[in-house]
Amino acid sequence: MIALGIEGTAHTLGIGIVTERKVLANVFDTLTTEKGGIHPKEAAEHHAKLLKPLLRKALEEAGVGMDEIDIVAFSQGPGLGPCLRVVATAARALAIRYGKPIVGVNHCIAHVEITKMFGVKDPVGLYVSGGNTQVLALEGGRYRVFGETLDIGIGNAIDTFARELGLGFPGGPKIEQLAKKGTRYIELPYAVKGMDLSFSGVLTEAVRKYRTGKYRVEDLAYSFQETAFAALVEVTERAVAHTGKEEVVLVGGVAANNRLREMLRIMTEDRGIEFFVPPYDLCRDNGAMIAYTGLRMYLGGVRFKIEETVVKQKFRTDEVKVTWG
Ligand code: AMP
Ligand code: MG
Repeated sequence: MIALGIEGTAHTLGIGIVTERKVLANVFDTLTTEKGGIHPKEAAEHHAKLLKPLLRKALEEAGVGMDEIDIVAFSQGPGLGPCLRVVATAARALAIRYGKPIVGVNHCIAHVEITKMFGVKDPVGLYVSGGNTQVLALEGGRYRVFGETLDIGIGNAIDTFARELGLGFPGGPKIEQLAKKGTRYIELPYAVKGMDLSFSGVLTEAVRKYRTGKYRVEDLAYSFQETAFAALVEVTERAVAHTGKEEVVLVGGVAANNRLREMLRIMTEDRGIEFFVPPYDLCRDNGAMIAYTGLRMYLGGVRFKIEETVVKQKFRTDEVKVTWG
């Protein structure tokens, strides 16, 4: 079977075409702004404008026509309302026009599910992106959230710190480079709060210390990463200990970071379990993960009536009953 997936929860519009085993196409367009902030309406207009050309590009790349697509999947949430509505409307139009089943997909779950294309079976997922930070794993037929940020996503925290340092957007790669030259650890507030995470304290304190002019930026970048990432690894490890799972996957845009990968590799090696990071184009927001998850859901018997395709801005990870596998 062949599935088409449309992703558009935030600033990236992505269209993917996949089979159960293979990505046939995975094309994107990301709305970037100088400062990195997202205006929901601008992003929605961006998605509306690019849908048709991107769809054409994806079909071309996959070498298939719409008639060969078996199901249409779309990111139903969580995300920005105006963006979600553009994507859902496009998916409905395609499904109705070509007489295909439609499947609404939870974005966070899709980030983890795509790893199963690579043979991962039942992982604990650390999903880290601009707006989201979540540790999730299947338990009792649902993806449970074992810890998540109580305030900002780790990516946004890094980007905001980078902006303060005048590094522009996105700040992640630049902070990573600076951090490599750090030699001294500067104490910052730890980011674990109970089972959850909070990055606003680390951010505020790092900015405050920077403004005193008393610290090297390399040391601050290094300390920022060490502090925030240690918290991510701790919550992930707790979820592993609790669930007894033997695989950890790292997904989301921040998965590009080599220091975070290294810290997770060390933790998983210590525990004698597997660690996997998908290729970057399947880590970031993308249509292929939506197509693949939609396909797995469909094969697992999930069916949507058109009236069930309403968008869910606050779509919770544990709302979805996982009947596929
Ligand atoms: P996403 O929200 O999934 O589109 O991912 C974008 C986020 O990933 C932004 O906040 C980036 O700053 C962040 N990011 C990208 N590359 C890196 C990196 N090497 N280290 C840390 N964060 C990164
Ligand atoms: Mg995402």
